[in-house]
Amino acid sequence: MTRREFDGVTIECTQGDIAAQSDLDAVVNAANAELRTGGGVAGALHRAAGPGLEEECRPLAPITPGQAVITGAHRLPNRYVVHCLGPVHGVDEPAEQLLANCYREALQLADGHGVASIGFPSISTGAFGYPVEAAAQTAMDAVAGALSGLGRIRLVRFVLFGRGDFQVYAGALERLPANGSVSP
Ligand code: ADP
Repeated sequence: MTRREFDGVTIECTQGDIAAQSDLDAVVNAANAELRTGGGVAGALHRAAGPGLEEECRPLAPITPGQAVITGAHRLPNRYVVHCLGPVHGVDEPAEQLLANCYREALQLADGHGVASIGFPSISTGAFGYPVEAAAQTAMDAVAGALSGLGRIRLVRFVLFGRGDFQVYAGALERLPANGSVSP
């Protein structure tokens, strides 16, 4: 676990399973456009949430790259799931902007629902093929840049499945300037 605080908001990185973050109000799904279950993060979250999650998602689909939508968490130990569609590497452009939009939109949507703590997986770096170093930098800059516009959120946790990904995200967190502000 590694963490830093920026003006009352903590950003932390941990190695673990996004479907097992029982102390967080909301978790983010690295969704597919149809908001269906699948492999990776979507599979883990839908399996743990049960079929009610897919049912609630159906009328909200399809979503477009960079977009986020929010649902209940069903049998997950959280209040909400925010579903983000990351860019497919080499297909959806401008990729960096679309990836940053996922993080910003997810934070704004969750904040508007009164969420105080939220967990993100490494969006787009699995099946969607985005290189993890570039994705981590974009993710961290987007989160840090969005903090000043949030009212409720006090904890943002990156939940990384593998040790290598954890180290990459932790490095990006350490590189953030002390005031957290990053030019957009
Ligand atoms: P995308 O389709 O956006 O690339 P994936 O779900 O395929 O999303 O993968 C995103 C990242 O999440 C990958 O680094 C993958 O290893 C990781 N991951 C897979 N399962 C989990 C899980 N249960 N908790 C946290 N991270 C996970």
